[in-house]
Parts: sequence; structure tokens; C-alpha cells
Amino acid sequence: MIHLTLAWFVFIYLAIFLAGILILWIGYEMLRKHLSSTAAAQHFSCRICGASLTDSQNNTILKCPSCGSLNECNNQGGF
Ligand SMILES: [Zn+2]
Repeated sequence: MIHLTLAWFVFIYLAIFLAGILILWIGYEMLRKHLSSTAAAQHFSCRICGASLTDSQNNTILKCPSCGSLNECNNQGGF
């Protein structure tokens, strides 16, 4: 049988508990970044009237349904 003192038992218990929280935190952060980047890549706003445009077919140019202007979809850089 493994002989543990109370101090070592508390230390190991806290280390495992905090490691679990850290792993969940990192996992949620990676999932949040992935979901926000995919959502932002498909959502644009019109540069003339500010209406929201959604690119569901990966087009390079979208026509605004409100004002009819053509908007270029720029996925590079920024937020
Ligand atoms: Zn517009």
C-alpha cells in the first residue's frame, strides 16, 4: 500500500484538480477562437450602408441587398 501523508495527499489532489481546470480552460479558449474566426470569416458589413452580409458560398464579391453596391470580401488580416 502506498503511504501518503495528509500534506502530500492535499498537494496531489490540488495539482490534479488545477490541471483539470487548466485543460478545460485551454480547450474552451481554443474552441471559442475557432468558432469566432469561422463566424467572422463569413460575416461582412456593407461599406456603403452598413447592412450585414453573410457569405455562405465563399464568394469574393457580395451584392448588398439594401443598396445594391458590390462589396469585396477581404478575409486577410485584422479582426
Ligand atoms: Zn449596402
